[in-house]
Amino acid sequence: MDSLSGGTSTTGVGSDDPLAGRSIAVVGSGFGGLSAACYLADAGADVTVLEKNDQLGGRASQFETEGFRFDMGPSWYMMPDVFERFFGHFGREPTDYYGLSRLDPHYRVFFKDGDRVDLTPDMDQVRATFESYEDGAAEAFDDYLAQSESTYEAAMERFVYTDRPRLRDWVDSEVFRSAPVGLNLLRSMEGHVSNYFEHPKLQQIMQYTLVFLGGSPKNTPALYTMMSHVDFNLGVYYPEGGFGGVVDGIADLARELGVTFETGAEVTEITRRRGEFLVDTVAGTHSPNAVVSDADYAHTEQELLPEHERQYSESYWDDRTLAPSAFLLYLGVEGDVDPLAHHTLVLPTDWDGHFAQIFDEPAWPDDPAYYLCVPSKTDDTVAPDGHSNLFALVPIAPGLDDSPETRERYRETVLDDIAANTGVDLEDRIVVEETFSVSDFAERYNSRQGTALGLAHTLRQTALFRPPHRSEAVPDLYFTGSYTTPGIGVPMCLISGEHAANAVIDDHR
Ligand SMILES: Cc1cc2nc3c(=O)[nH]c(=O)nc-3n(C[C@H](O)[C@H](O)[C@H](O)COP(=O)(O)OP(=O)(O)OC[C@H]3O[C@@H](n4cnc5c(N)ncnc54)[C@H](O)[C@@H]3O)c2cc1C
Repeated sequence: MDSLSGGTSTTGVGSDDPLAGRSIAVVGSGFGGLSAACYLADAGADVTVLEKNDQLGGRASQFETEGFRFDMGPSWYMMPDVFERFFGHFGREPTDYYGLSRLDPHYRVFFKDGDRVDLTPDMDQVRATFESYEDGAAEAFDDYLAQSESTYEAAMERFVYTDRPRLRDWVDSEVFRSAPVGLNLLRSMEGHVSNYFEHPKLQQIMQYTLVFLGGSPKNTPALYTMMSHVDFNLGVYYPEGGFGGVVDGIADLARELGVTFETGAEVTEITRRRGEFLVDTVAGTHSPNAVVSDADYAHTEQELLPEHERQYSESYWDDRTLAPSAFLLYLGVEGDVDPLAHHTLVLPTDWDGHFAQIFDEPAWPDDPAYYLCVPSKTDDTVAPDGHSNLFALVPIAPGLDDSPETRERYRETVLDDIAANTGVDLEDRIVVEETFSVSDFAERYNSRQGTALGLAHTLRQTALFRPPHRSEAVPDLYFTGSYTTPGIGVPMCLISGEHAANAVIDDHR
């Protein structure tokens, strides 16, 4: 393990009280903010979380209407090891706060040519499925998964749990030498996967998780091959109460550690006077010794800080590849929605056009690749008796116009596509309906161009190329959340909170 000194820090905050007597404001209560708050309070700080919205959890918000309860954001509980490690630091387990059920199948794929496949926890079944598409694919799957597992293990130790903010932290380290033999971490996922599988459907199955990382097979480095270990070996779970149950669990832990929450407290400005912060909110002013922002990085820098205290110019942000936004259609429907599974993907057999309409020529996708979530398959508290709870998520380019007319038109496109490709006709059974898209992300979360996820994981936005946890312009100002390392996704944001807390502790020790 690397030492805690210098720029490189390995997670593992000490159990003494290095922050006793320090007050810290955490801006935003997404998973990065909740996590940082827990570690900082555990290290003795007096922590207040200032959240713009009326509920905690950021992108993992929920809404309830007419007996339906919708998770508005994350729905795939993956990498259970990261949650165990997080709670374990405080002497707890996830199950002290919420139960978990492993899903079977993990997910179902409907290809738009009429083909359908289940990916299950039963590896023999998965091997047989792969072999049915291509001779030798079962063996290739074993090989692929073995390198995915060793990449996961190396990556988690060397660049996920270890923060390496400077180039020399990489040059000096054994990171690249530790990569599994034959894995060129810098090539694209598309090239990497095609080394193993020729059949386009098998390639799509191995690449779909990139959509959740906010990238495409062409612009995401092969390092993220590790997601297949996450998917197939570690499994896909459903937390009791949905992701809202996870937010509540971590917020309860934070309160036990002494964290104070203020909701409806949007921060409007962060300034400094005589070395002290002034954090103005719509509800009053705080003057903490340090600030950790979990609000979108671009928003914090460009809209909350005075110009001379920003690390980046507007053109820096214009030049970034933002992760997709999304068109979300939340539906409460009468009856069941068989044959949809808890998680279902509907994929055109050629999805290049959809990725091009996200990253190259932004437009509403003509032939969308999308995800359907039906938590009522697993949880009977999310819909009234005799009803199903469902949402559709179509990744789309950030910044698209999402006027009411456009949404109405696209809603029809999605409902027609679901009916045509899964056989589930929803139109006449809908009792509750809401959409959420680009302008809602921008308005509800202060997200730049309404990105749903933050910064995409392209090569030039991975690891040390993501914005740092520690501001280089303002002492005692830190960042956490999906724009920072390790990146997008609930487990990654939990870890980013630990990195940010480590940076605070290192600086105040
Ligand atoms: C539709 C969708 C589906 C997803 N699916 C999955 C999934 O299945 N599995 C998974 O692991 N991940 C998933 N993700 C990604 C995951 O939800 C995010 O990466 C993660 O939750 C982001 O956490 P964060 O720490 O960056 O904070 P965020 O969730 O971005 O929260 C930031 C908080 O800051 C607040 N804020 C902003 N400005 C201010 C201000 N000025 N003052 C005060 N507060 C402010 C916001 O209101 C918000 O609460 C999904 C995301 C979306 C949107």
